[in-house]
Amino acid sequence: MTGTIEIPVTKVLNSRLKETPFENIPFGKYFTDHMLEADYENGEWKNVEIKPYQPLLLSPATAALHYGQAIFEGIKAYKNPAGESFIFRPYDNYQRFNKSAERLQMPAVPEDIFMEGMRQLIALDSSWIPNKPDHALYIRPFMFSSDEVIGVKPSDNYKFLILLSPTGPYYAAPMKIYVEEEYVRAAPGGVGFAKAAGNYAAAMLATAEARKQGYDQVLWMDANEHKYVQEIGTMNVFFVIGDTAITPDLSEGTILNGVTRSTAITVLKEMGLKVEERPLSIEEITDAYKKGTLKEAFGTGTAATISMIRELRYKDFVMNFDTDTWQYCPKLKDIVTDIREGRAADTHGWMFKV
Ligand SMILES: *Cc1c(COP(=O)(O)O)cnc(C)c1O
Repeated sequence: MTGTIEIPVTKVLNSRLKETPFENIPFGKYFTDHMLEADYENGEWKNVEIKPYQPLLLSPATAALHYGQAIFEGIKAYKNPAGESFIFRPYDNYQRFNKSAERLQMPAVPEDIFMEGMRQLIALDSSWIPNKPDHALYIRPFMFSSDEVIGVKPSDNYKFLILLSPTGPYYAAPMKIYVEEEYVRAAPGGVGFAKAAGNYAAAMLATAEARKQGYDQVLWMDANEHKYVQEIGTMNVFFVIGDTAITPDLSEGTILNGVTRSTAITVLKEMGLKVEERPLSIEEITDAYKKGTLKEAFGTGTAATISMIRELRYKDFVMNFDTDTWQYCPKLKDIVTDIREGRAADTHGWMFKV
């Protein structure tokens, strides 16, 4: 569905592009000249517009600020060597966004507003897409409840916006990960599968405590037994044991259904590895490490792309990895990066032309 929606555009008078530093741009700090904004009122989406990036004027009683009906997505756009702009698998994010919306009792965003709105916004700000290795334009669609009423109930009004932010590498170095045993991120029946703002607030204390001990992120465990691994921060997790890549399955609804996870599963299979989606216990991981069959461990996510784990700590047991000797994860990363940055053929239909 393209070109079906007329979106009014108000352009900036002066672009901020030239003042924006494009060397190792920190994540999420700089925004492009324009944003998309839409309102949900009286049961329908209206006021869809692209306008200069600017503050929102909100009532202090705005419902989302009190009860947390807020969801988001993270997508990336790239330039190929010919200078054309592409978005990586945005339709998957669109579908996931509306699943998150349903779980939080928020209205679905129509496809033309999400997909075509995003396409038109990126087309307008395409000169902001960095064309450097490991750089991209990060796309942040989000929605929040905007009733000006303090009351615990789904709002009648919502705002949907899309921001664009040029970005560089997220974790430049391989990560140190702490296996979390005290705090939990998601339980069956909860909202773990949704990209809901509150999930990240709930994770911050555990992450802060891990940071104090010198770790970058925590590896979450299941809520019931603290026995099975779930995911890391904003990444899904993979372990290569023998010639099999294993990633936790999604059946309990406690893990984010990552687009990068799905991409990695496809590419790893094409590389000749067996891939298993199944419950994976921390004992299986530590046992494999002791036996020498745990070869690689890495995280996958749009923001961080594919990040190697150089140290994994469970209780007092520290697993160290010599990531320089790895063969699968670096190859996976190269293949995915080449597709995204337009140097390799897009044989899966993942690249959406702007
Ligand atoms: C966004 C996110 C991921 C990764 O999903 P992608 O679609 O690959 O970006 C994984 N886990 C959590 C908790 C996330 O928020």
